[in-house]
Amino acid sequence: MPKTQKEDVKESAVEKTEVEKYVRPSWDDYFIEISRMVATRGTCDRGRAGAVIVRDRQILATGYVGSPIGLPHCDEEGHLYKKTIHESGEITNHCVRTVHAEQNAICQAAKLGVALQDATIYCKMEPCAVCAKMIINCGIKRVVCEKHYHGAQETAKMFEIAGVELEVLVDEMQTYDNM
Ligand SMILES: [Zn+2]
Ligand SMILES: [Zn+2]
Repeated sequence: MPKTQKEDVKESAVEKTEVEKYVRPSWDDYFIEISRMVATRGTCDRGRAGAVIVRDRQILATGYVGSPIGLPHCDEEGHLYKKTIHESGEITNHCVRTVHAEQNAICQAAKLGVALQDATIYCKMEPCAVCAKMIINCGIKRVVCEKHYHGAQETAKMFEIAGVELEVLVDEMQTYDNM
């Protein structure tokens, strides 16, 4: 028996309701989620971080933590530790074998000739002081990170002075072994 016009109207109304129920992620959630996938390629398990640089809702570059191309990775050779003694007397351990995710994303842009002026960078944790300085100088204006980082004491202050907006989505410290 052929469907009546009335039934057709009813069905399309049901479809429409289902479509409306779906909630799309915000742009920040979308790029943070992509940065998590980028991070899975990282080769240092201290944070195994990823970064995505975006402007006008389009991805310009991505990067993850890893050794310079051709050099051995932490996952194969182990970490290369250096201690940092802070003014407060606190001592923190850092693996210096790698190029950080933020730095690798900036390097990728440099390699491909992509300008980063006024861009936003999405990362796993607050950038360290070196990454922060590079972020400021390549013209990035907004930094969105998932968590705080124990080695980022100077970062927030530098960004404030330089006029870079910093957003930490979860008010928690990123943790891993031997911090
Ligand atoms: Zn490492
Ligand atoms: Zn860094």
